[in-house]
Amino acid sequence: MNMAIKASPAVVKAYSELFVNRRAYTLQSKCPHAETRRHYYFRPKARGTGASLSLTADTIRRHLEGEITIGLYAINPATQRSKWVAIDADYDGAMEDLLKLQYYLLQDDVDAALEMSKRGGHLWIFMETPAMARDCRVYICNLALRLSVQIKGAGLADGIEIFPKHDELRSGEFGNAIRGPLGVHRGADRRYWFYGADYDLNKQMAYLNRLRRISEGQLQKLIAGKSMPPEFERKLPSSNEAVRFARPAGREFRILEHVGKVRKIGRNYVTQCPSCAQAGQDRSRDNLAISIEDPRKYICWAGCTKDMIRRALGCPIPVGRTA
Ligand SMILES: [Zn+2]
Repeated sequence: MNMAIKASPAVVKAYSELFVNRRAYTLQSKCPHAETRRHYYFRPKARGTGASLSLTADTIRRHLEGEITIGLYAINPATQRSKWVAIDADYDGAMEDLLKLQYYLLQDDVDAALEMSKRGGHLWIFMETPAMARDCRVYICNLALRLSVQIKGAGLADGIEIFPKHDELRSGEFGNAIRGPLGVHRGADRRYWFYGADYDLNKQMAYLNRLRRISEGQLQKLIAGKSMPPEFERKLPSSNEAVRFARPAGREFRILEHVGKVRKIGRNYVTQCPSCAQAGQDRSRDNLAISIEDPRKYICWAGCTKDMIRRALGCPIPVGRTA
């Protein structure tokens, strides 16, 4: 499958300029998880120190050459902006929705590149200069609503997913990452290309760089008078809410009381991760593993922290002595 594709420094540089919003990234596991057989993404850490690794030109080269597969974050936390919008669709009828979106984007003079995926595809739109994540989302949410293209919500309903998935990040947050284009999908064990050019790294990058990019002025015109449809307003719990939900001391948090139906796989109960679910993910309901032996221990294989899981359940970990 991967016939020794080489990524030149020029291609690596062009890729970084087009796609990389911040240096943090995720890595898809090379081996499937022993129990679920899925390839999860995790944030790679340095051996020894445990510090999070940052993207380098070499990481990107290895991704493009198929040695590793990285996930890219949509939002630069310093600016709350993104260089791109990606629309992910992977359900029955996904391709029709993507082609419809691509056609109507073009009516707005917006070029969108269609990338193949395991089921369905990803539609990529590029910005002349990084745009506010919220503005990108307002535009695409309104367009999808107008075209009756479903957007995946907090439930399990199928629909498109829009990256950036958040309007803004709070300090320490990363938002959601999407598989870096032109890499090898570990689960499918194959490389997915863009439809618009020959299956060659140089030609693909040249194609992407020829696409028109949305200018700030154009985006502002496209969203003039529009706001975020209320059903897609993603509310972040404020620190006040954390205080309100905090439980009196002495009552231990038991996750099994808060999650839905669990199944037994090996030594764990397995169920949908509440934090993944909030982001419209984990439709196979197997990201959260809870130790049968000690149900106080739980982990999300997709990398959600305990804090994120507790917040998603409306039972945030109490901060300091608030209650
Ligand atoms: Zn999760």
